[in-house]
Amino acid sequence: MPPSESSPAPSPGDRPGAGGVLTIDLGAIAANWMLLSGRLRAGAACGAVVKADAYGLGLAPVSRALFAAGCRSFFVALPDEGLALRRVLPDAEICVFNGVDATTARDMAAAGLTPVLNHLGQVADWRAAAAETRPPARLPAFLHVDTGMTRLGLGEEEVAALADDPALTAGLHLTGVMSHLACADQPGHALNDEQRARFDAARVRLAPLAIGRASLANSSAIFLGPEYHYDLARPGAALYGIAPQPPEPNPMRQVVGLKAKILQTHRIDTPRTVGYGATHRAERGRRIATVAVGYADGYLRSLSGAASAHVGRNIVRVVGRVSMDLITIDVTDVPEAEARPGAFVDLIGPHHTADDLAREAGTIGYEILTALGPRYARHYLGGPS
Ligand SMILES: *Cc1c(COP(=O)(O)O)cnc(C)c1O
Repeated sequence: MPPSESSPAPSPGDRPGAGGVLTIDLGAIAANWMLLSGRLRAGAACGAVVKADAYGLGLAPVSRALFAAGCRSFFVALPDEGLALRRVLPDAEICVFNGVDATTARDMAAAGLTPVLNHLGQVADWRAAAAETRPPARLPAFLHVDTGMTRLGLGEEEVAALADDPALTAGLHLTGVMSHLACADQPGHALNDEQRARFDAARVRLAPLAIGRASLANSSAIFLGPEYHYDLARPGAALYGIAPQPPEPNPMRQVVGLKAKILQTHRIDTPRTVGYGATHRAERGRRIATVAVGYADGYLRSLSGAASAHVGRNIVRVVGRVSMDLITIDVTDVPEAEARPGAFVDLIGPHHTADDLAREAGTIGYEILTALGPRYARHYLGGPS
């Protein structure tokens, strides 16, 4: 999409000493959750994955916006993330992908978190925590069955052991069983159907335990079709605007905007090199602007000489290496009045998305978002009232 207008300057009064301004549209996140919910088969609920600080966008504001939109089931990776989210959302279901061990069980039980139990050791640790609960109460637990990731999850023999011995889950309230697809972003990949078949077989095997809801779909898997939806979907990336089925057109609303300040400009009179390693040579007549963002802000070093950005309507290129706090861009084709110290460059926006930047860096949008650093001034748009 071509840029339609020059981006408005960030409003004065926000941290003028920050080098960059990160805008996060909470209304777009809520709209994306609604869109995904609406795509699910009747009867399936839509959760939200908010691990890694809601993919770098802010655990508390993002989770509040999703709860206000109607989301009631949240997923994080770490026990610490679950404890932090519990302080934000006292009433939501909070599931912890990495599970539990003897060192975390007590705090997780006290906070009412639901660990995802990935192996029999975690089952035993959570069962021990349940036995200690006073007054006695059953503790909620999700079971994770490995169907082809070989990362986390119960193997076939562990599934059989649980199914055959109800004492192993004594004191636990099994609220769901999940698995995770390796190739959900590749609709034609044979592993998708194979994993679904293994998931169904495990559910049949575990049925005597009353395992609650079934959950298989991340963002991409929602678009594989209703047979992948089961009872509860677990999208993350698509909520934050990442395309769920590239190269198909992205149906999600854009969430993130990033702009950074021009600090200095150079008119090249004599050809000279730019930046570390002297990897770029600027010829006579070029203009180079130095911008206050770098790899310490998650503007990846692999974007050196590879990224594009916008100054108003003008597309510009990053030249030379990305350094820790600075990048250099060639602004020769930009009117001088627009590329001056104090002006802002659009690094991520509707015409240059996190996915676009990821392609230039040789990575995925997930890594661009989760790398966004703490140094930006953050603006949240459209939060719940
Ligand atoms: C991160 C994660 C998700 C969310 O995946 P997206 O591709 O971001 O939608 C779902 N399930 C598990 C187990 C995950 O680790």
